[in-house]
Amino acid sequence: MENKKLSETLTYTKKTVYEKADKSIIDTAEKYAEAYKSYLDSAKTEREAVKVSIALAESFGFSEYRLGDEIKAGDKKYYNNRGKNLFVFSVGSESINRGIRLTVAHIDSPRIDVKQCPLYDEAGMGFLKTHYYGGIRKYQWVATPLSLHGVIAKTDGSVIDVNIGEDNSDPLFYISDLLPHLGHKQGKAPLDEAFDGEQLNILIGSKPYTEDGENSVKLNILKLLNEKYGISEDDFFSAELCAVPAAKARDIGLDRSMIGAYGHDDRVCAYPALTALLDSADSTHTTMCILSDKEETGSDGPSGMQSELMLDIINELAANLGGNPAIIKANSKCLSADVAAAYDPNFPDVFEKKNAAMLSCGVVFTKFTGSRGKSGTNDANAEFIGWLRGILANDGVIWQSSELGRVDCGGGGTVAKYVSKHNIDTIDLGVPVISMHAPYEVVSKVDLYEAYRAMLAFYKY
Ligand code: MN
Ligand code: MN
Repeated sequence: MENKKLSETLTYTKKTVYEKADKSIIDTAEKYAEAYKSYLDSAKTEREAVKVSIALAESFGFSEYRLGDEIKAGDKKYYNNRGKNLFVFSVGSESINRGIRLTVAHIDSPRIDVKQCPLYDEAGMGFLKTHYYGGIRKYQWVATPLSLHGVIAKTDGSVIDVNIGEDNSDPLFYISDLLPHLGHKQGKAPLDEAFDGEQLNILIGSKPYTEDGENSVKLNILKLLNEKYGISEDDFFSAELCAVPAAKARDIGLDRSMIGAYGHDDRVCAYPALTALLDSADSTHTTMCILSDKEETGSDGPSGMQSELMLDIINELAANLGGNPAIIKANSKCLSADVAAAYDPNFPDVFEKKNAAMLSCGVVFTKFTGSRGKSGTNDANAEFIGWLRGILANDGVIWQSSELGRVDCGGGGTVAKYVSKHNIDTIDLGVPVISMHAPYEVVSKVDLYEAYRAMLAFYKY
């Protein structure tokens, strides 16, 4: 210690996890990444993420909670909100008035939603009309293999699960793009204007039904859907179908240091937030992990974080455990577990390097989000960040701090402000992502594992 140079003692230097961490941590990060990849492949929509997360929670002894059920110390519960939003919580041994250690990550991701009256045919091809979900760059979603996921709710109350394109023997779906030979005029258009939202129509067939004097691709598709699901065209009105990239999660790089996948934003935070809670369920604190929906469209609706449900569950905890909701909230702490934009050396102009998240440099906390003068941000308290740095240091978690990009270059938001408005100290913390919101995003395995270790420390201290 006494041999350290003054510059080493006084200056902050960002270094990679590879430089800072023990080899055992890097090896464990590899194993953790394998489990994460299989989670991703079975959780491409919020509904699928809820299902696979419930199965995981049940394997750790968690059981279903319904509003009104009795709650006591030591309980390990989950609340399934409409199959799209999940609350997983473990009731600690200390007084509930000491607050809740809360993490919130979202399990919805940008994608292409099918419209309510979608099916038509033209020029011998059958299509589904779509309306994209979340912030996408439209040009990235054409000429790429897609799978179809979702549900069809029928009038008799039954709900049919749809999942076509994930099995290697399944057919896939596709949105066409122009050939370069005829793309001259399109190529001159600004990137954001080159594709019209109404052009993102999903190719679903090209073989007509030709009996009874008919000649209709649409009718043949309806016939196939009827044979497989027992539905007719009007059942689309009560369906939620979406096209997502068909690609599976895979290692990226010769050194296999990264993971490429659809939907890292925000399952790369949902998975560590959930697994760290399951692994630390004997904490003296009451811990809760919320996997939320609708973040990519503004957190509205009953499954988004602007819903009152979180407060209802806090009220139920208070009523059952002899607590006071106002005191519980005042003493709670929250990690808004969401991704950060990783610095990309191919696009240096949009980043400010000193305050950018660097790939492989560990979990990232983000004091403020927003845009144009920090507008619309939670802006975490310095005192709360000081506490956070302390607990991360206790467990040797390797962290960095970031903001989204250069000042006035753009901006974005998370669920942080929808939690902190309830008088709960909240900070954004997550994993840096390359090509965020693209059909295939990239993260570093060591950053993922440091996020898990950060969540473990958060639930524990
Ligand atoms: Mn996100
Ligand atoms: Mn996002």
